[in-house]
Amino acid sequence: MNKSDSEKIFGLLSTIGYTSTELPEDADLIIVNTCSIRENAVRRLVGHLGNYKNIKQYNPNLIIGVGGCVPQHEKDNIRKKAPFVDIVFGSQNFNKIHEMVERFERNREPIVSIIKQADVYEEEMPVYRDNKFNAWVTIMNGCSRYCTFCIVPYVRGIEVSRTEESILREVEVAVEEGFKEITLLGQIIDLYGRDLKPRSSLDQLLYKVSAVKGLERIRFLTSHPKYMSKGIIDAVAELPNLCEYFHLPLQHGSDEILTRMNRRNTMAEYDELISYVRHKVPDAIVTTDLIVGFPGETEEHFLETINACVKYRFDSANTAAYSPRPGTPAAEMENQVPEAEKKARLIALNRVLNDIAKEKNQATIGKIESVLVEGFNEKKGNYYGRTRGNKSIHFQADDSCIGKIIDVRVTDGTSSSLRGEILNPALSLKN
Ligand code: SAM
Repeated sequence: MNKSDSEKIFGLLSTIGYTSTELPEDADLIIVNTCSIRENAVRRLVGHLGNYKNIKQYNPNLIIGVGGCVPQHEKDNIRKKAPFVDIVFGSQNFNKIHEMVERFERNREPIVSIIKQADVYEEEMPVYRDNKFNAWVTIMNGCSRYCTFCIVPYVRGIEVSRTEESILREVEVAVEEGFKEITLLGQIIDLYGRDLKPRSSLDQLLYKVSAVKGLERIRFLTSHPKYMSKGIIDAVAELPNLCEYFHLPLQHGSDEILTRMNRRNTMAEYDELISYVRHKVPDAIVTTDLIVGFPGETEEHFLETINACVKYRFDSANTAAYSPRPGTPAAEMENQVPEAEKKARLIALNRVLNDIAKEKNQATIGKIESVLVEGFNEKKGNYYGRTRGNKSIHFQADDSCIGKIIDVRVTDGTSSSLRGEILNPALSLKN
């Protein structure tokens, strides 16, 4: 979501004449689009700002802006801690960044502008798409679920869906521009459309997006297991250009912890969901998010997470040690788990997940994957792309393959990627 917002910020800035530089030292303007999901992300902001402060010392005309989720939460603190920052804006008004920059260029007066809730789907918002093959399309903003660990509802506003018409227009334009793959984005995307009048739903939208001529691949991120409907799973089973890929954040394997996380679903419900996915889409790639060290997590609770991974055999997972976020209920809970314990559990969990991922990837040896070729990796000396299940795959090919969807036979697998050989005999090989 942040990457997608950054592409729009860049698009907006290009309307007032800005282009990109390779190095921050060459820039006239640096905008840092921040994330506050974990303490680590906030810490990285401090590191980046230290570097940019040094650059400003020998280029005093450099304009520095900080936007997104951190200022949305800490409005006045940014300039208190970093007075050399010229523009501070939030996640709800990044669509005005070009106006703020122009105002600063005129007045050279610091700007701090944060608003609580806004509609950031400006129809004509220009976007500079960083990835040349996959286009992000935001279909809803915000989150109103209030998981006790999560800061998102406080920094991204309440759930607001974008109209189907507006989404379809953006998808059509992206396909006309040559994008083969679209990833629809929302914090809890399976809730799409409930707030619209007339009401819509993600499955209804998926059928419409799927019908856009020339669109070869569709993905959607990220779901919440509680709201993943059979209709959405059926759509994945039925629509040929909807990829067999489900990201279903479990967060934890213990019902007791799930309740304290305010996740609203039980392990029994998750089990039923996975069974339905496997029944309707047997080849589905299923990935997840997991948190270790939530307050009160005992060794037994943690083992329930491990057991869930062994049972569901996730293809991959985003794992994190619980990070207390200011203003969220879990940050105030008793029995916070010591950092060293969290770290040890995270290492143990990742080891189990990596072993499963490696086994699963190796089990696909011999399988033919449809691959969207993204480029050539100079360091590794091979071409790379993504399968329909969003797995990274490496192979020998030539430049004519880039941007095309080709068949690749899997020849090996590690915990994080696949290796393969291309099948299309018409394609000439460099090596
Ligand atoms: N759709 C997802 C869901 O089911 O809740 C929401 C994605 S959330 C924005 C991104 C992920 O960050 C979460 O799934 C969670 O695993 C992780 N996360 C959020 N807050 C966290 C925290 N305080 N500490 C560690 N991880 C956190």
